[in-house]
Amino acid sequence: MEATHLHPKQQACHDCDLLIELPEQLNDNQSLLCPRCKKVQWTQYKHPVDKTVAYSLTALILLVIANAFPFLSFDAQGQTRTITIIQASNELYIQGFYLLAFLVYVCVLLFPAIYLSCLLAITIPTKIGLKPPFAITLGRTLSYLLPWVMTEVFMVGVLVALIKIIELADIVFGVAFWAYIGFVVCFLASSAIASKHQLWTWINHGK
Ligand SMILES: [Zn+2]
Repeated sequence: MEATHLHPKQQACHDCDLLIELPEQLNDNQSLLCPRCKKVQWTQYKHPVDKTVAYSLTALILLVIANAFPFLSFDAQGQTRTITIIQASNELYIQGFYLLAFLVYVCVLLFPAIYLSCLLAITIPTKIGLKPPFAITLGRTLSYLLPWVMTEVFMVGVLVALIKIIELADIVFGVAFWAYIGFVVCFLASSAIASKHQLWTWINHGK
């Protein structure tokens, strides 16, 4: 069902499609649940614009740090090897895992960076009381990108791989490793606060 055909005070549940009557306003830290499947539809956070700007900016800075410094160092049989995230995906490409290398570039580095930039392009003007330029395009871009951002999947993959490698080599976690963990936390926080509902509220009505 097209969202544009719905009454503006109604929303289809994200999980079971039940039409939900939207309340005028939620209190701070209050969530709207679907009456049928009890899934959270959106949460009204306190100072959502400020928090989204803070988390998104921090996440972008941590992503730059995560790419500028060594991610992991392996020490096996007297030989030490240090890799960055970009080198790890280059290595996948060299070994013939083209799709995997492409997914790491795009879903782990490129899309999160574009997502955060678009989010800041909406929230910073909203914060200072201006209408964000190209707001509808930015809002749609954010909705399309989010399912393709796989930062936490990458982190879980790295941790699972480490369990196997740790028996074969001594591993030193680089600055980029900790920066990437911080980035994932900040990214998840900003995308949770800037939910679809919150995003379109900013785009249509400002703060
Ligand atoms: Zn539901």
